Amino acid sequence: MTTRPSVLIIDDEPANVRVLAEALQGAYDLRFATDGERALALVARHAVDLILLDVVMPGLDGFELLRRLKAEPATREIPVIFVTARDEIGEEERGFDAGAVDYITKPVSPAIVRARVRTHLELKRQRDLLEQRALIDGLTGIANRRRFDEEWLRRAARAYEHGLVLRLLLIDIDHFKDYNDHYGHGPGDDCLRRVAAALHAACGHPGDLTARYGGEEFVAILADAPDGDAAMHAQRLLAAVRDLDLPHARSGTSTRVSISIGAIERAPAGRDGRDLLESADRLLYEAKRGGRNRCVIAGADGAAVRVLQGEEPS
Ligand code: GH3
Ligand code: MG
Ligand code: MG
Repeated sequence: MTTRPSVLIIDDEPANVRVLAEALQGAYDLRFATDGERALALVARHAVDLILLDVVMPGLDGFELLRRLKAEPATREIPVIFVTARDEIGEEERGFDAGAVDYITKPVSPAIVRARVRTHLELKRQRDLLEQRALIDGLTGIANRRRFDEEWLRRAARAYEHGLVLRLLLIDIDHFKDYNDHYGHGPGDDCLRRVAAALHAACGHPGDLTARYGGEEFVAILADAPDGDAAMHAQRLLAAVRDLDLPHARSGTSTRVSISIGAIERAPAGRDGRDLLESADRLLYEAKRGGRNRCVIAGADGAAVRVLQGEEPS
């Protein structure tokens, strides 16, 4: 069962809050605040899907509250419907300019409140869905390149500022062109899906991200965890793909589908982390040249290169 959408009602008049609450009762998870400060504290603690906001309130008024919600990335996307008395109707334009999605006039009609709330929640749901889909790879269902690029920039900037180590693994399926040539493009797609799922499943921490980097290349960023270890993770990935046990008659490296990995583990030299991506790419190339089905990994000084050999299927 999905959870009910949560609606926050903000009005300094308890009687107004009651009328709105009665109109929405049953369908939503309702929360209330009778002043702006409390409303802000509430949205900081709880996920809110939509806000009904009184314009005229002592202290923080509706406009100021809306401005603060829009200033915070965490609350910026919450749709806000202004609730206003009829004689304040001249404020409508100002409200829309400030980012309100709609207006309801007092005294409110319960049917209108329900209809407007339903409409804006549905719009929000569809927006979220589109946004999510835009970050997912259509073939494999894991994160796509765009999602990776965004996440990488964010993490690289943070790592650069605080001198933190980043762990990045660039993963490429071995002899995949031959796989397509031998088995066909459809089975090639299936193979990509299976490998993507295995790589994704091998990630243990909530902050790990596995993405399709392009074609038959994948990428994993490891979470900033004390036990996050690029070498260990590479071993897990090599084993996870081997355990899929997918025959590859034309591999030349193994009897099964295998991968090669370039792994890097150090603080980025610039805030875009490009140097780490380039290093990982070079290491991946080394892994290919050295015989595939292996990971070549460079440590903190960038020079110490270790090779982890993938095991043959038993
Ligand atoms: P190497 O071991 O050096 O990585 O050799 P490779 O054949 O895997 O590498 P190469 O870059 O020569 O070929 C990659 C192949 O991946 C070619 C391309 O047709 C295939 N490929 C890329 N994207 C897809 C896809 O979405 N579906 C399928 N079926 N194949 C794809
Ligand atoms: Mg390849
Ligand atoms: Mg490739």
